[in-house]
Amino acid sequence: MKNACNKAVFIDRDGVITIEPTGKGKNQYIRSLSEMKIQMEIVPLLQTFQRLGYKLIVVTNQACIGKGYLSHRQFATLTRYMVAELRRKGIRIANVYYCSSCNPHHPCRKPNPGMLWRAKQRYHIDLQKSILIGNQLRDIEAGKRAGIGRTILYDSNAMPDITVKKLSYIQPENL
Ligand SMILES: [Mg+2]
Repeated sequence: MKNACNKAVFIDRDGVITIEPTGKGKNQYIRSLSEMKIQMEIVPLLQTFQRLGYKLIVVTNQACIGKGYLSHRQFATLTRYMVAELRRKGIRIANVYYCSSCNPHHPCRKPNPGMLWRAKQRYHIDLQKSILIGNQLRDIEAGKRAGIGRTILYDSNAMPDITVKKLSYIQPENL
């Protein structure tokens, strides 16, 4: 067995790579290509991570499939489009892991870490050297349970400009 020598950035899809639809019910999910809009800010960020040698792996809950709002085939079409759009910007996504289950106990549905374990096995990833970016606490929880070294919560509605876990993380020279 190869050593776990690669580092990765695990990126949530909805609300991080793509802009989340604002509808309710089944309209809260991206179900067509016209609804799939990539956030411009993610592009330079992923380019930088790639340049730094991180594998880029998408991990996304897609309960809309389990609920019958979207088929696996339609999801695959959306995924191909997203990957191709990013590829046009020079970004190579190593893989897109998704969980179609709406059962909160499903081992792959975040906050459960199943998708991260699978990626770790396949790509020989050192999770401690890896990063996870999500926009919900369940993303962060999945990262913590898997042993990801750094988890980042993106919350555009956050009240403070910066939230820190330790006062020593405040860097006056970088504010
Ligand atoms: Mg999300």
